Amino acid sequence: MSPILEIRGLSKRFGGVTALSGVDLAIEEGEILGVVGPNGSGKTTLFNVVTGVHMPSGGSVSFRGRDITGLKPHAISRAGIGYTFQQAMAFAGLRVLENVQIAGEHVRVNAGASHHPWPTPLALLDFVGLAALADERAGVLPFGSLRLLGLALALASRPALLLLDEPAAGLNDRETAALVGLVRQLPGHGITVCVIDHDMKLMQMLCRRLAVLDFGSKIADGPTGAVLADPKVLDVYLGG
Ligand code: ADP
Repeated sequence: MSPILEIRGLSKRFGGVTALSGVDLAIEEGEILGVVGPNGSGKTTLFNVVTGVHMPSGGSVSFRGRDITGLKPHAISRAGIGYTFQQAMAFAGLRVLENVQIAGEHVRVNAGASHHPWPTPLALLDFVGLAALADERAGVLPFGSLRLLGLALALASRPALLLLDEPAAGLNDRETAALVGLVRQLPGHGITVCVIDHDMKLMQMLCRRLAVLDFGSKIADGPTGAVLADPKVLDVYLGG
């Protein structure tokens, strides 16, 4: 099967800074792929280029066989690539359920989504464990619940590929375990996942495959155990 997302020779420069340099990366349908690397290695830039926030300086991105390089964020979202933000994004003055309804509304006709019926906003809240808080204003939710709401909002946009940016940042152990349990279920619902984080413990729980960035280049890509035993990767993480 061809990959759901194929990144070829992707580069991004910011003035004199090379944030990404000739990155090739394929995400296979139905997997949970982890992209790791030290601070400043280019992980966020990779997501920002894939989602259309930044134009690449070179290279291409195709999604389900279609070239999406340089498309605007709304077009990429409509094509079926969802995204959660490091900062949980919700309308504080609206109710939790209303936030999910709004997130789903503008993508009802989504060319990239499957034709299967999508769960209702309330079912999505139930999935992330927030159904009991449906009528609360989003602004009163504690941080951990707000992150889970962020996941429900991203799912409401019917992604075929979901990009998670440090999904467990700021969560306690119990909340992290709940999140891991939810994310692991996503491939069973037809959602491919790519997660970036520098928390290796989390990545080992979530991902069978890891790609490693260092100074904007991919230095390793393969089964999690093999990648973590790779001397090049150990060098980067242990500063050897
Ligand atoms: P990571 O997510 O792995 O921490 P980033 O993608 O945020 O790495 O950053 C990679 C490099 O690109 C860093 O040197 C960073 O300073 C630089 N960079 C990222 N975004 C911008 C930007 N908008 N303008 C200038 N430099 C940036």
